[in-house]
Amino acid sequence: MRLLIEGAMVWDGTGAPAFPGKVLVEGERIAAIAPQSETVASNGAERLDATGKFVMPGMVEGHAHLSFVDTPRGTWLGELAPEDHALLTMDAARKLLGAGFTSACSAAAAKVRLDVAVRDAINQGLTDGPRLLAASPELTVTGGLGDGRKLHLHQDSFGIAVDGPDEVRRLARLCLREGVDTIKLNISGDFGTESAPSEAAVMTDAEVAAGVEAAHTIGRRVAAHARASASVKRAVKHGVDVIYHCDYADEEALDLLEAAKDRVFTGPAIGIVLARLDQVRGDNTPQGRIFFERLKPLYEATCRTHNEMRRRGIRVVVGGDYGFAANPQGTNARDLDHFVTHFGFSPSEALQAATRTGGEIMKRGHELGLVKPGYLADLLLVDGDPLKDVRVLQDKKRLAFIMKGGVRYVPCEGAPHVRRLH
Ligand SMILES: [Zn+2]
Repeated sequence: MRLLIEGAMVWDGTGAPAFPGKVLVEGERIAAIAPQSETVASNGAERLDATGKFVMPGMVEGHAHLSFVDTPRGTWLGELAPEDHALLTMDAARKLLGAGFTSACSAAAAKVRLDVAVRDAINQGLTDGPRLLAASPELTVTGGLGDGRKLHLHQDSFGIAVDGPDEVRRLARLCLREGVDTIKLNISGDFGTESAPSEAAVMTDAEVAAGVEAAHTIGRRVAAHARASASVKRAVKHGVDVIYHCDYADEEALDLLEAAKDRVFTGPAIGIVLARLDQVRGDNTPQGRIFFERLKPLYEATCRTHNEMRRRGIRVVVGGDYGFAANPQGTNARDLDHFVTHFGFSPSEALQAATRTGGEIMKRGHELGLVKPGYLADLLLVDGDPLKDVRVLQDKKRLAFIMKGGVRYVPCEGAPHVRRLH
């Protein structure tokens, strides 16, 4: 396959301004890019007149939960049989690709093999979806985020409770055996968990160390749910690679993150916080008021922290915990606007977080996330200028095509959400 895209504004993902240019794709890779005035040797290539459109790298969802299938409660995920759940996860993968995300770094699966099976099916061409790094379920302590059990009633959710370093190590090793790329540890609690609030670092040093050791010993990665400041420090101290949220990070935690910025990624996952805040604002039921009182300071802390992270040059990825009823799969491009509106990112900086930094969190910064010769041809052709207004990326009708590895897709209404062009 040889395709010459001509006449578009080309934005390469580095932060350099867009320019009128052409991009030559050969097979699964980008062969050349050039200003529109220059000739590109393109013998026999299909030519595409993209005048008035915008070419950019495919986006990367840095905090994906493809098996969180828009249920109102985590325990509903536990009720899904593995077979049904796998099909729904495939459906979410197609939705994400149809929304312009050509890669996704998972931040946890709801069952051990869901991400793994869907990742492998995508790689084998059995279904369409983004390039995927598969994660384990959320390893959590008893009473932590994702432990849906009650004393009188066993209920699975998206977490598996493990207590003590030996249990963490055993379950981490089991997930690694089953093929996950990333082990997820819930070091802090969360705003909806009575026995583990956001401000509490409930997973101990020894437990975190055991999970990290199990993954790093075989070259795999660890991601953490870390809202409390102490949980961020614990994550950095023990070598966690991806530290999500970091809302309440104090000065010392920010200093630690900054000192580790060449190896660590962060991601606010602000989408779910804003979606839940919208839900409970003006909700005068006791439960609504409680949630509002918890979410408002959390939102304010997240904004403070991520404005500061941007100032310090700490790598931040987009991805907002999509996959809950209030924050459904496929609406992930909203995150770029959140970065601009709430964290002080310029549109170019938000786009870089979604592309170049995304390529790096996929461990493929050398071939993913930029429009550059030799890089994989993961491209979006957009009818609009996201550098003026990133919200154009939320409108799937404006995605003229989504290219992954040289293959073109177009979004479509309803399942299968994305259609491959031949
Ligand atoms: Zn998450």
